Amino acid sequence: MSLKIKINENYQTVNKNYLFSEIAKRVAAYKNAKPDNSVISLGIGDVTRPLPPIVIEAMKKASDEMGDSKTFRGYAPEYGYDFLREAIADYYTKIGISLTANEIYASDGAKSDVGNIVDILGDNTILIPDPVYPVYLDSNLMSGRKVEFISGNMENGFLPTPENISEKPYVIYLCSPNNPTGAVYDEKKLKLWVDFATKTGSLIIYDAAYEAFIKEDYPHSIYKIPGARTCAVEICSFSKTAGFTGVRCAWSVFPDELTVGDTKLSALWARRQATKFNGIPYVVQRAAQAALTEEGLKQCRESIEYYLGNAKIIGDVLTEKGIKFTGGDNSPYLWLRCPNNMSSWEFFDFLLNEAELVGTPGAGFGKAGEGFFRLTSFGTRENTLIAAERLKTLL
Ligand code: PLP
Repeated sequence: MSLKIKINENYQTVNKNYLFSEIAKRVAAYKNAKPDNSVISLGIGDVTRPLPPIVIEAMKKASDEMGDSKTFRGYAPEYGYDFLREAIADYYTKIGISLTANEIYASDGAKSDVGNIVDILGDNTILIPDPVYPVYLDSNLMSGRKVEFISGNMENGFLPTPENISEKPYVIYLCSPNNPTGAVYDEKKLKLWVDFATKTGSLIIYDAAYEAFIKEDYPHSIYKIPGARTCAVEICSFSKTAGFTGVRCAWSVFPDELTVGDTKLSALWARRQATKFNGIPYVVQRAAQAALTEEGLKQCRESIEYYLGNAKIIGDVLTEKGIKFTGGDNSPYLWLRCPNNMSSWEFFDFLLNEAELVGTPGAGFGKAGEGFFRLTSFGTRENTLIAAERLKTLL
């Protein structure tokens, strides 16, 4: 019997989760045909290093508190405990940005915040870079929004700017360092977006999930740019900074000055979270707080340096082989042009069959990703070194 209710038809417009299932299917078929294979994945989009010791200590201590009636805690505040919101505000102070703790809303993931922010926004035109993290597009399609794309390409270094865009209010998504291209906005280019948003009354949703990978002189936060407090929400995460992909903790910043008429966006977000979200576990929040201490940041840095070391090993091979790529220096991602004009999927099959290496076809991140390929540095050093040797021989 079929139900007689209506479904959200917008979900029919979203691509099936084709990319990673297709990759898994092709890898499984290869492994079936060659059971003695030594396939290495450079497609991992997840961290592999264990949590920093200081984080583990904090989790154990917080677990003990939960087992004692004197220190047990139930529901956590919807926006995060003050100790965490203050620790995040202090983190911003360290990079020269002044925010108050009550402008910070902790959550269980940047993905959740990116997806949920659509709830508090009306029917705007959405501007999304192409290629980019697919959640921006899918979450807007699910809400029936009209989406326009701004193309990233070799010419603009995969860092589109607002030239030739008609001047009207948009909701603009920016991701820096970018997934998948690893490209990072400098202050000058980011200022173009902040100025454009200020002039047109647009909102920027700035995804800084990979900011901790920035080594050179690039902004870690959009609030480095004057005027950003009146036009930008920033979303950031402990996932890649502290290895929290399986622990789940992130935050969004809604500055006080961010208003539509008399309405503060922060008030709408607070209302949304209070209704649909019941907070992050106490143990997780203590773990996140520990990651932001001086010692915590030092320990997190060790893993980030490890991944960046992997990225350099892969990047050096690509440079040696004359293959054009972006990323890898301030990001865990390397984004390369497929050699010999191969399509993304042709190069995927070529790498798998000829070198037993797995990466991610660029076409999965948007139309402009066709002909490109993403490699990641989240594997082990040992595997990265083997993969680098295979690439050297193959390319
Ligand atoms: N934003 C970007 C650009 C990402 O690449 C990812 C994860 O891959 C996320 C957000 C998700 O972060 P979280 O683990 O905090 O949900």
